[in-house]
Amino acid sequence: LLMAYDPARRLAKLQVQMERAVVNARMIYALLDLQPQQRERPGAPDLVVSEARVELKGVTFRYGEGDAILKAVDIVAEGGKTTALVGPSGAGKSTIISLIPRFYDPSEGAILIDGQDISQVTKASLRQHLAYVSQQPYLFEGTIRDNIRYGRPEASDAEVEEAARLAYAHDFILAQPQSYETPVGENGVTLSGGQRQRLSIARALVRRAPILLLDEATSALDNESEAAVQKALDTAMKGRTVVVVAHRLSTIVKADKIIVMAEGRVMEEGNHESLARRPDGLYARLNNLQAPV
Ligand code: ATP
Repeated sequence: LLMAYDPARRLAKLQVQMERAVVNARMIYALLDLQPQQRERPGAPDLVVSEARVELKGVTFRYGEGDAILKAVDIVAEGGKTTALVGPSGAGKSTIISLIPRFYDPSEGAILIDGQDISQVTKASLRQHLAYVSQQPYLFEGTIRDNIRYGRPEASDAEVEEAARLAYAHDFILAQPQSYETPVGENGVTLSGGQRQRLSIARALVRRAPILLLDEATSALDNESEAAVQKALDTAMKGRTVVVVAHRLSTIVKADKIIVMAEGRVMEEGNHESLARRPDGLYARLNNLQAPV
């Protein structure tokens, strides 16, 4: 029975990973406006960002005709602060991230940035203020330089290299056969998971967006890559509004605010100390389970 079960389980896991890769690619395409334009109100004004405060107000969401995945969710991500979304698998954390660039629209309720309903502003202006880093990074066919420049097509070579330095990627890029001109993607050189992540962080940095959406992977990197990626992320997060689907205890502990979700609802919120102190709280229970992470 075990022998029959194991490959099936591996296949199921692979399926999930592939679906995630597709979602990541679609998110990146959406953010970079490489997707055909979706609905936009004619004559809509541009989004004007000052503090970059993100607010979900009574957000209910269903994929198509299905059940509500998010149920009257209220969340405030303060400008310049890190808000971590935690909770069991399927709680709706990634769905929240995908609503902010209007990859999908809420079925009820609204999302506001600095008080402006994001469904009422131009998509280009909304997405210009957002950057997305998934820790299952997606590389496009092309050179390393192209892959960073996708973040902001008009960025100069110097700006691309500056972003790479800030993302702790410059040194390994110089060590590639053709430096910044080295092809990556299916027909290019093979980069390690940590190197790919740093490229995707550089791509986000070159965008200079005030709001960073971060989807943390559960899969671990080796210690050296992990440290480099963490430093790159710390740089990227500094001074930005960060909404992160957090799996690592270190990210969660450092967050200014933790939102604990389950079954599409916000169950608890607070910082690590305050939540961990609630004896019967969901966070305290999750935290015990997660201790080895
Ligand atoms: P995880 O930690 O496993 O990523 P999560 O909290 O991020 O979980 P979501 O990925 O937001 O949860 O998923 C919430 C629910 O929505 C799940 O039941 C999932 O199966 C469903 N779901 C996610 N994406 C889609 C989609 N594109 N179409 C239909 N249902 C979806």
